[in-house]
Order: sequence, then C-alpha cells, then structure tokens
Amino acid sequence: MGLRLDYRTDVWVDWCPGCGNYGILAALRQALRELGLKPWEVVVVSGIGCSGKTPHYIYANGVHTLHGRPIPFATGIKLARPDLTVIVTGGDGDLLGIGAGHFVALGRRNLDITVIVHNNQVYGLTKGQASPTLPYGVKTKALPKPNLQDAVNPLALALASGYTFVARAYAMDVNHLKEVIKAAVRHKGSALVDVLQPCVTYNDVYTADWYREHVYKLEEEGWDPLVRDPGERPAKMAAALEKALEWGDRVPVGVFYQDTTRDTLEERIAARIPSYKRQPPGLAVIENQGRPVVGEEELKAVFRDYLVRVKRR
Ligand code: SF4
Ligand code: MG
Repeated sequence: MGLRLDYRTDVWVDWCPGCGNYGILAALRQALRELGLKPWEVVVVSGIGCSGKTPHYIYANGVHTLHGRPIPFATGIKLARPDLTVIVTGGDGDLLGIGAGHFVALGRRNLDITVIVHNNQVYGLTKGQASPTLPYGVKTKALPKPNLQDAVNPLALALASGYTFVARAYAMDVNHLKEVIKAAVRHKGSALVDVLQPCVTYNDVYTADWYREHVYKLEEEGWDPLVRDPGERPAKMAAALEKALEWGDRVPVGVFYQDTTRDTLEERIAARIPSYKRQPPGLAVIENQGRPVVGEEELKAVFRDYLVRVKRR
C-alpha cells in the first residue's frame, strides 16, 4: 500500500449501513488531510465498541486498545512523543462508563489530545443496552423498560474536569463536524468533541430525523466561546455549562468553550525538564548493556532473556 494522504485503508468498513460512524470517519479523514498532517505524524487510539474499529480505517498510526483505556494509552503516547498529533476515538460507554475516571484525569492535565466521543446513547456492539449518556426515562428498542438511570452530560463533565476545548457536533453534518475536529486538533490542550451519532440499529429515539429537527449551530447565533483572559473564565464557563445542559426542543452544536490561557501538561513538564521537548522519552536511544540498540535483531536480543525467564516459570 503506497502513501495515502486521503487517509483511507483497504480494511472493509463493517458498520451497519446508515450508521453515524460513517460521518465521523469521513469528517476525521478530511480534517486530517485539510490540516496538512502526514500519516506518520498522527496516532488514532480507540477502545472497545463499534467506534473501536476507527483506527483500522484511518491510514495513520493506530492503536485499538482495551475497554475504557484509550485515554491512558493516548496519554502515554503523547508524553513519549509530544510532537505527534494524538486523537482518541471512543464510544460513550467506553469513555464515560468504564473509562470515566480517565476522561476526568485528562481534563485535569490539559494534555494536548483530542477526544472524539461517538455518542449514540447505547452500547451498540453488545446489542443496545443503555449507555451513560441515555437520559432517564427514555426507552430505546433493546430496553424492556425505560432507562432507570440519569445521563452524564459529556460537555458538563469536560468543563468540570478542566478541558480547555469543549465542543459538540452532529455526525450527519460532515462538513461542520470536520471544521469542529480541525479546531479541536489545532487547539493546544485537552479537547472534547462530543459527536451526536445516530445508531440506526439500536437507538430508535434519537434518530437522524430527530436530530435534523432539533440541532442548531451556536455560531449562527453569535456564540463566542473564547476565553482570552483568565478573568473571563468563570463567566464563560458558566455560560457554556448552561448551553451544554440545553437538550429538548433545541440541541446546540458547535464550540461551547475554548480557553487558550492555560498551559498544557507538556509545557508544564518542559518548564521543569528543559530537554523534554528536544529529547522526549519516545526518541531516547534504547541501550542494551551500554550499547545503543538500532535494529530489529538487536531489539529482539534485548527481550530474549526476558522471554526465556517467562518460559521457565
Ligand atoms: Fe453503528 Fe449502531 Fe450498528 Fe454499531 S450497532 S455499527 S453504532 S448502527
Ligand atoms: Mg455507544
């Protein structure tokens, strides 16, 4: 396979026909291309769920990790190679259920990672159970009775956790979603893009028809998300939170909040370790008994002893 700057791979995309994930995939590929990034400069990290397949479909570095753990993997990658563009694609169950603690920790760190939530309010891969974003009292087709639990609001949680870029978009409006992803990737700091993603197979309540009637764009109403001075932070955050909680007749999408006044974790580390950006851990020379390791055979030699020890146990 030659160099593919359209970010397509030969892997068969096996999501259900009509799934909102197709819109997210198209928008992400286009965003990466328009940002002028090269595949080797990008890492896409996923967890478990229908969304977990995304890295297979993007011609870039990709890691399909454990359930709820894409953010810790992405954190390690970004800390080791701060020069790379690191993007997490995960489901609402993956990132806001089992992975919720990691979601909060990323905001506290303001590490420069973009998190894209494929938010369909159900666990699609396991046949449509209620996910953490399905509102109380809503009954989707796989539930025998209406949902007994309240929903977590991804935007509100991100604001409370310290994310410095908080946005929502709609999977079927690919052009708008692409622009939001580009803004999120360009932002320096932890960025959330909560994507309203119709699951045509299991969510018969929040369908494409429902979203078409209810979604409106913040920017068309003159919304200004930008914190230009730390003193503006409390008022901007309160306004963004109020908007984030709007859900019913009208559902806003767009960039709710962007704070460019806070240091990223990489900048905080670099302030403490001056060589960090120049010599990050991912570019450090691996040594074996004092000699630098440069090739595959030498790398195998490093691990040969370890493998033998494991076999003997
Ligand atoms: Fe998409 Fe739902 Fe099918 Fe998963 S189950 S591929 S989320 S339509
Ligand atoms: Mg889901």
